[in-house]
Amino acid sequence: MAIDENGGATETTDQRIARHQRTRLRRLGLSCLSYLLQCLLVAVIAWFGETSAIFALGFALTCAVIVALFYLAFRSGLNLRLREPNLTLAQVLAPALPGLALLYGLESAESQAALLLTTVVPLLYGTLDLSMVSFVVAVVVYSLGYLGVVFSHALFTTSDGILFHSWILLAAIMVVMPQVVLLSSLVNRLRRTLRERNNEIRSAMNRISAMAVRDDLTGLYNRRWLMEILAREQAMISRRAYSFCVALIDIDHFKSINDSHGHAVGDRVLCELGQYLAGAVREIDGFGRFGGEEFLWIVPNARFDSMLGAAERLRRRVAELDFYNDDGQRFTITLSIGIAQNDERLKLCHDTLLRRADHALYAAKKQGRNQVMPASIEPAKRARNPEAVPVD
Ligand code: GH3
Ligand code: MG
Ligand code: MG
Repeated sequence: MAIDENGGATETTDQRIARHQRTRLRRLGLSCLSYLLQCLLVAVIAWFGETSAIFALGFALTCAVIVALFYLAFRSGLNLRLREPNLTLAQVLAPALPGLALLYGLESAESQAALLLTTVVPLLYGTLDLSMVSFVVAVVVYSLGYLGVVFSHALFTTSDGILFHSWILLAAIMVVMPQVVLLSSLVNRLRRTLRERNNEIRSAMNRISAMAVRDDLTGLYNRRWLMEILAREQAMISRRAYSFCVALIDIDHFKSINDSHGHAVGDRVLCELGQYLAGAVREIDGFGRFGGEEFLWIVPNARFDSMLGAAERLRRRVAELDFYNDDGQRFTITLSIGIAQNDERLKLCHDTLLRRADHALYAAKKQGRNQVMPASIEPAKRARNPEAVPVD
């Protein structure tokens, strides 16, 4: 069935990509908020005359263009063509441009010191997602950028005060940045460990889920899984006009196979037959070991008469299969199959449906085994098919 073993629908690649794109857009929304706050701060600074209104406007415009470009990249899926679709390094580096330009345009050393603090904030976000190499690249770009600001001041500004403070700030950056890099490497290591643990937990969960729904001996789905599939089919009949069938399949005289060839051969027959039947039913059918030498076959969206035909074909094919004991001696087996149907008019509960199939199976055994027996036939169909034997 197209349902995963954890009982949920499996996520397709497209769905996973769409989920990641949504996360990226959400993160961009967050950094948009950060840009907005910074623009507000710059507006206040401009209000107090620490920088010109043109500079503040240019700052805001550049921020808007940056956000718009990232938005377009994520919306159009352009980022998916790149090796690093999160565009983290680009998002960490982009604010350096307006940030450093603004630092250059500030009038006083105090404002420069205050703004430098907000300029390096994107860098701190980078510690959460960037690899060590990318992070060092970002740190170097920011440091060189600020060095550029200081040199530009040295070349073009006449104020000695701001120049002196710039050199102090640069020295402070040189002290702070290596520590930020160190911190980033610790965060990176923590992230890596966390990712490894998560992967281990996920694969353990998958293993446990698979074990919970598989039969130990045959590897087929077990009764628990079959009951879940049955519940899904049952849910369908309460919603719309829908019918499905179940077939209870039992190996005839299986005890005598154990008795004559040994329990190990009996086990082998169960495995080989189970695999054969699982391969013979359709992909959308539910099939598994119901218990002992019984299998349950759940056929969605099936008409009763076509189900009878399919079961009959299966019974005949199995009767022609060859099995071998430990001495290489060939033997065959036969099946008795009880079929029951459920639909939106019958609305049978689990127990009643399975009981009907079981009664039909019992009737098949009683009538000589090696046959398919319908559990119930609706009155209209019974009239057309007087030879069919209603069981209950
Ligand atoms: P019938 O035609 O009436 O179904 O006869 P039967 O012998 O198949 O049915 P019965 O219920 O009398 O016996 C079922 C046998 O299946 C008995 C049990 O030992 C055997 N069996 C159940 N589970 C396993 C298993 O996992 N491995 C083996 N080898 N035998 C099993
Ligand atoms: Mg049995
Ligand atoms: Mg049996």
